[in-house]
Amino acid sequence: MTEQKNIVVIGGGITGLSTAYYLQKQIKDQGLPYQVRVLEASNHLGGMIHTEQKDGFTIERGPDSLLARKKSVFRLIEEVGMEDHIVPVSTGKSYVLAKGKLNEIPHGSYMGIPTQVSPFLFSGLFSPLGKLRAAGDFVKKPSKPNGDQSLGNFFRYRLGDEVVENLIEPLLSGIYSGDIDQLSLMATFPNFYELEQKHGSIMKGLKQTVPKKKKSDKKPSVFRTLDTGLSSLVDAVHSKLDEGTVQLNTAVDHIEKKEEGYHLLLSSGEVEYADSVVITTPHYRVQRMLTQYDFMAPLGDMPATSVANVALAFDQSAIQKDIDGSGFLVSRNSDYRITACTWTHKKWPHTTPKGKALLRAYVGKPNDQEVVSLSDEEIEEIVLNDLNKTMNITKPPEFSVITRWRNSRAQYTVGHKERMEHIEQSLRDKLPGVYLAGASYHGLGVPDCIDQGEEAVQRVLQYLSS
Ligand code: FAD
Repeated sequence: MTEQKNIVVIGGGITGLSTAYYLQKQIKDQGLPYQVRVLEASNHLGGMIHTEQKDGFTIERGPDSLLARKKSVFRLIEEVGMEDHIVPVSTGKSYVLAKGKLNEIPHGSYMGIPTQVSPFLFSGLFSPLGKLRAAGDFVKKPSKPNGDQSLGNFFRYRLGDEVVENLIEPLLSGIYSGDIDQLSLMATFPNFYELEQKHGSIMKGLKQTVPKKKKSDKKPSVFRTLDTGLSSLVDAVHSKLDEGTVQLNTAVDHIEKKEEGYHLLLSSGEVEYADSVVITTPHYRVQRMLTQYDFMAPLGDMPATSVANVALAFDQSAIQKDIDGSGFLVSRNSDYRITACTWTHKKWPHTTPKGKALLRAYVGKPNDQEVVSLSDEEIEEIVLNDLNKTMNITKPPEFSVITRWRNSRAQYTVGHKERMEHIEQSLRDKLPGVYLAGASYHGLGVPDCIDQGEEAVQRVLQYLSS
């Protein structure tokens, strides 16, 4: 009889849950003698995915938007029977707050890069000189292929500082909560580098590769969500796992390699045995689990930004100057502490009872980390003060929900890809059967995390069968 093998997934966020789900699916399909356990430090599953239902509002404390073009999350949603709950974003318009006012993001821009000339020419976001400088992209030589560089360096060279600061920077740092002059081009958007190298210009390259959208395309549905809240996906995946798979309130403190397999030292003092381990926790936790290995040190040095998400529920009458669109990002050269605001009642109408409004603002950026440690009252005051510069809010919120996500946004700084390659190669050599997956490593959107979970499944199965 074949011996039973134990696979332990550390962390019960979306990466860990999707890993466990697809592992059990393959184990059943192939009749493999393997058992999967998920060890989660906190008292709930989902990690950064956390929906709160309150007074008829659906409030996402973490992610709310699933990028429609990334398929793994929709595949998982279908796997667990939630596809009837997918809803598209209800408005395509969004804005950047720059030069003291809200400017619509020019139609046809892709991650801030113009793919159509006229919306860009007529945009109030840039001066005539800034527009002229951006056109330099058509004639500037491709950057020399010499490894990695920062996103800021790359885009400033191609399009100039003004387009970067008023459009690209707010969009990209909105995704990464980072400083684009530190973030790695090759770990975040290597496709822009490839377009530059292939077409000699990123605008030319995008024009040829991105399908053209008509202005009349009212609902491009770039983003989707679940009308039951994203925690319902977590619950649905959990419900498909074999009973007893998940163990909450169980932190892994340390991992030791034994002659056969691994010993996981739990914070309870107990020891769990594993033949293979998938670690899906944030990078700094992993480094602490494997302090005896010098090659893990770069994970300890990898920065992470703290952010806070501030949901404010109002009576609709409190918002005098409501705006048509899903929200705005704030350019870093503006005198604001909020970094973005979603008009959630417009973007996702199902989240808000009739006659009410739900705003979701963010604070916390690399050069303003202190704000996350302020009291709820102080954060709320900062947010309302900033919002009132554009919105004219006449009554206090009916309630607010403030969520602090400390060190949650891993920063893929220049050289991230090479550092990860080195760490993963060393893991293969020194700790075979141990894999990393999740937001700190190869993409931090929910679908990227699921992709990494699926990839980890293949690696574990291959390892155990070898
Ligand atoms: P986590 O969700 O961090 O899960 C890791 C789990 O490991 C946690 O549950 C933690 O408790 C557990 N853990 C930690 N240490 C241990 C230990 N020692 N032992 C056992 N368990 C441990 N993405 C999008 O695609 N769209 C969005 O709109 C979006 N918005 C976001 C908004 C905010 C405010 C934030 C913070 C993130 C957002 N993201 C968004 C990113 C996305 O939510 C995350 O990157 C993703 O959910 C991370 O999943 P994960 O499983 O890799 O990590």
